[in-house]
Amino acid sequence: MSDKREKYDFLIIGGGIFGIYAALYLSKFGLRICIVEKEKELLKKASIVNQARLHSGYHYPRSVATALMSDDNKARFTADHQQFINSEFEKYYGIERYGSFTDSQQFERFCAFINIRCEPVLRHPLFNYHRLEALYHTIEYSFDPILIAEYYRQQLKQHDGDIEVQMYTEVKQAEARGGAWAVELCSLENGRRREVEAAQVINATYAGSNAVNRLFGMRDIDLMHEISEMVFVTSPQVKNIGLTVMDGNFGSLMPYGLSDMLSLSSVAYTHHKVSYDNLPTFDCQALNPECRPDFPSVCSSCPARPRSNYRKMIGQIKHYFADHVEFHYFTSMFTIKSKLKANYIDDGRPTEISILNENPRFYCIFAGKINSIYEVEKVVKV
Ligand SMILES: Cc1cc2nc3c(=O)[nH]c(=O)nc-3n(C[C@H](O)[C@H](O)[C@H](O)COP(=O)(O)OP(=O)(O)OC[C@H]3O[C@@H](n4cnc5c(N)ncnc54)[C@H](O)[C@@H]3O)c2cc1C
Repeated sequence: MSDKREKYDFLIIGGGIFGIYAALYLSKFGLRICIVEKEKELLKKASIVNQARLHSGYHYPRSVATALMSDDNKARFTADHQQFINSEFEKYYGIERYGSFTDSQQFERFCAFINIRCEPVLRHPLFNYHRLEALYHTIEYSFDPILIAEYYRQQLKQHDGDIEVQMYTEVKQAEARGGAWAVELCSLENGRRREVEAAQVINATYAGSNAVNRLFGMRDIDLMHEISEMVFVTSPQVKNIGLTVMDGNFGSLMPYGLSDMLSLSSVAYTHHKVSYDNLPTFDCQALNPECRPDFPSVCSSCPARPRSNYRKMIGQIKHYFADHVEFHYFTSMFTIKSKLKANYIDDGRPTEISILNENPRFYCIFAGKINSIYEVEKVVKV
């Protein structure tokens, strides 16, 4: 690599919400920042393909640490994104009568322990109590991923003097030299190569985390990956209502932010394919040469994505509703969901930021939940 390099204080790889938030936060210190994103658009993966649950902790009765972290960040995320938050719906948590890992007593004890509201609902005309051991009225909001993505795109435009965004660009190679990172970038549009120097690097590529770690000679973090489907439905009867059934192979339905859609997920049917490799390795990649374990693509627009499981998912969630409740399928979005292998048992979703190299610094952000974007402020040194 030559010595004529553009210099940045931070090179951030990955233009999802975590990479973009980190860039906006760091720009407040007057630093020069470059975001490198491999796709043609920002925020096309997990940052928009998710259930949009503004976690309050209820979801993690087996991981008190994740539950407490959710509550930590909730108030600030809500205040900062007020116009994109749906707080006007009734949110219920139900305990499945058969085969749940949690029963009503445990769930109530857990809610009391982390101090979140859960009021038993003994009768409700919309729900089927034959399948629910207990139903609770809770407080949980939903954020609008599409509007939030647009907001962050606009924020970046307002910072185009101090945050450079390199779209459709790949990191070809990287090495530590003279206390900084020397990085070769390559445009995926025309193959043009460019050398840059960065004092610090942040890897915020989620499913791509280990591939980028390896490019910089860093160790893997232990991950597993799933190709996941979020289904979007409407219902004439279920308006402004969300239901999450705990705790095991069940499902969840809730308003997708401020849209008229309900997002529907099912532990049994949302996840089509599983990869226990540290890189997301799936058989469908053989059918799409643009998507590789070390360079995963956008599943929603992939011709090789799995066939939708929407019929099964609607069939499953209907069990928890009264007979007259109907759901109408609208569409599905697919993406890779990555998880820390360590959370296989407790189902926790912590956000972990590892410092994998001290000099020059290299951080790997592995994001568990959207409202933990602020964790970067605790770890990254300016
Ligand atoms: C199905 C599903 C449901 C979820 N539900 C919720 C929920 O209800 N509430 C919640 O808070 N969280 C939820 N999550 C988790 C949440 O969506 C993620 O933690 C968060 O979106 C991760 O954001 P990110 O910016 O790290 O990753 P992403 O949004 O995936 O962004 C990473 C970016 O890095 C880019 N990239 C990858 N490799 C490279 C490379 N080599 N070079 C350059 N760029 C690269 C990608 O193209 C992408 O743009 C869910 C996730 C999934 C998948």
